[in-house]
Amino acid sequence: MAGFASLRERMIERQVVARGIDNPALVSALRAVPRELFVSKGFESAAYADAPLPIESGQTISQPYIVALTIDAAQVGSNDKVLEIGAGSGYAAAVIGQIADQVIAIERHRELAQLAGDRMKRLGYSNVRIIEGDGTRGYPDEAPFDAIVAAASGSHVPQVLLDQLRPGGRLVMPIGEPGAIQELVKVTKHPNGSLKREELGAVRFVPLVGAHAFPEN
Ligand code: SAH
Repeated sequence: MAGFASLRERMIERQVVARGIDNPALVSALRAVPRELFVSKGFESAAYADAPLPIESGQTISQPYIVALTIDAAQVGSNDKVLEIGAGSGYAAAVIGQIADQVIAIERHRELAQLAGDRMKRLGYSNVRIIEGDGTRGYPDEAPFDAIVAAASGSHVPQVLLDQLRPGGRLVMPIGEPGAIQELVKVTKHPNGSLKREELGAVRFVPLVGAHAFPEN
């Protein structure tokens, strides 16, 4: 395990801090979560590579830098309740869980939701709940959220998600066509309810598939 700890440290220094993300709570969270336990069997040695990796159900575990960029932009704080759309391996949800009070992470593929849920149990991450379903509808039972992050690219920012954001809350999600270069978008809901939209740069994510995003196929 000593090998993975030094790879993890090098990932944090070269891929995250060197690119300008030095948020201490986020750096500690990245240091705490063993990414090698979130990749598919056989990919452990590549777990800290500067790239996304394939996981089950034809999906990917996001590049570490992109996970950090999204969480940093969402300004996740220690008292926050966070919704993640597209739990995948559960890695980003686990990192958020190290910072926030509570995480609800939704995944549409049953196989991935089960694997991610098993990982949270095994690692004792009891403040992270993995739910199988369509995250484009949000999760009304637990709304409002202080932050909402999506790990898959939508066609637009769904109004239902903005409705489930607490005043003062932040939503960060990629917007753009499948396979194309997409834009990472941040929407802040001000305490008076008004919305501010910012574009954070070009990214490439798997498609968000659901009622308020792209159709299946
Ligand atoms: N955060 C993940 C990244 C997974 S890739 C990680 O750290 O591993 C994005 C995931 O979004 C895929 O697993 C995909 O199945 C899922 N997804 C796509 N559309 C979705 C939707 N409408 N609701 C929930 N999950 C969705």
